[in-house]
Amino acid sequence: MSTAELPRMMDLGETDLGVMRLSGGARVTDPAIAASYAVDASLGSTAPDHFTVVRARDVGDVVEVLREAHARGIPVVPQGARTSLAGGATAREGSIVLNVEGLDTVAEVDELEGYAVAGPGVVNQDLKRAAASVGLFYPPDPASSATCTIGGNVATNAGGLCCVKYGVTADYVKSLEIVLPGGEVVRTGHRTGKGVAGLDLTGLFVGSEGTLGLVTSVVVRLVPAPDPSLVALATFASLDAAAAGVVALRRDRHRPALLEFLDRATIVAVQAVADYGFPQACAAALIVSSDRPEHTRDDVQRYAGLLGEAGAVDVAVADDQQEADALMAGRRAVNNALEAKGGRFVEDVCVPLGRLADLIRAGEEISSRRGVEMTMSGHGGDGNLHPCVFFDRADPESRLRAEAAFADLVDVALAMGGTITGEHGVGSLKREFLVQELGPAEIARQRAVKAVFDPRGIMNPGVVY
Ligand SMILES: Cc1cc2nc3c(=O)[nH]c(=O)nc-3n(C[C@H](O)[C@H](O)[C@H](O)COP(=O)(O)OP(=O)(O)OC[C@H]3O[C@@H](n4cnc5c(N)ncnc54)[C@H](O)[C@@H]3O)c2cc1C
Repeated sequence: MSTAELPRMMDLGETDLGVMRLSGGARVTDPAIAASYAVDASLGSTAPDHFTVVRARDVGDVVEVLREAHARGIPVVPQGARTSLAGGATAREGSIVLNVEGLDTVAEVDELEGYAVAGPGVVNQDLKRAAASVGLFYPPDPASSATCTIGGNVATNAGGLCCVKYGVTADYVKSLEIVLPGGEVVRTGHRTGKGVAGLDLTGLFVGSEGTLGLVTSVVVRLVPAPDPSLVALATFASLDAAAAGVVALRRDRHRPALLEFLDRATIVAVQAVADYGFPQACAAALIVSSDRPEHTRDDVQRYAGLLGEAGAVDVAVADDQQEADALMAGRRAVNNALEAKGGRFVEDVCVPLGRLADLIRAGEEISSRRGVEMTMSGHGGDGNLHPCVFFDRADPESRLRAEAAFADLVDVALAMGGTITGEHGVGSLKREFLVQELGPAEIARQRAVKAVFDPRGIMNPGVVY
């Protein structure tokens, strides 16, 4: 059902929440449709008994909902496309899920200044297309690019496949429009090429996971378009050699546009979905690409040489765009392929590059000690892997072992000077680990900052803190 088909609820009257009366917003009244908005892509995400879903059609709806919710102390869950893997967009008991996918207009693309103005519901891939239409490029490229929204990307400071060269969402957000609890509309940042007036509140909101306010418009920086990527696939006989390959490429003067790591179990899972051309008789593979204008072929040949020196047994360079697209499609199929294997926890640890091989070895040790299956894949070029720990959904004991392995990986990453989350966010699944990473004093300071914007604590309670 499209947003336009939903009735405008001028006065919702008595709701599931008993006392709530909202004068704006398209409340979803069909229980089956509402239930689909209660969950995100995270493990164990389930709908609570009582919640209300509102699909905003304009900023006015957002203002009204946040004014009313603030006045009544009703929790609000800001929501985009629900691809959160951290449990950040799941309805909570007694909450209003405020979905902004309908605010999906690219209002402006300024080719001279190099920016675009997008509603929070604009899908990442569509923003890229809008930029490309004037010869520019919006780099942030989560593997969920075809579905996730720019509002969700801002709220999670999303990363993705090309961060190794281009950085993360925060590196492209120039300015935000945000509705605060109570309904005040605030604007942060600037559209000009430079601007240093005042504190960087844009930076504060990026990555705040819907805990401070709701993003209703985003001004993103665009860069000159690169060349179409040339892609190569290198295979290795050992995980260590593949990790050495990552380090070798990170030292190159011309950084790859993408440097992804897949272990054998991941490759086997992907090939089980379809033939993406990944050889299965190896311990690990790296996918690497260059998009440097007029130098893609030189770069990829040089990368192939470096990977050979690091121990690659084979490096296959895609001959044409079709082969390159097939390899990239294989990389984008990883999440679905691993999901098809069964119950799993998806890790998102990020470690210093020099410790990548140690992280991979630690994963192998944890997996054998805990008696769980673990796959290793992800954004190797950033030191950001997504180890998956599998369990049998019908066996509670196997789930406990997987949980313990998940926690072990966090310990290992922190001990290496890494972090509990490179890009998926803390959400509701990693709250306890955040205390481990930041410590109670820092958590208290962050809570105090949150209270400045959200004094009643209605924004996404249970997420991050
Ligand atoms: C197959 C798959 C692959 C993925 N690959 C990557 C990857 O490569 N890199 C990566 O970083 N992530 C990845 N993710 C995770 C996810 O796609 C990102 O976190 C994404 O940014 C979430 O966008 P969304 O629109 O789905 O937001 P949602 O899941 O709806 O929400 C995510 C968080 O943002 C908040 N939020 C959403 N919209 C707003 C708003 N307008 N204002 C304030 N807060 C808001 C929510 O409250 C929630 O806390 C992947 C997920 C899947 C399922």
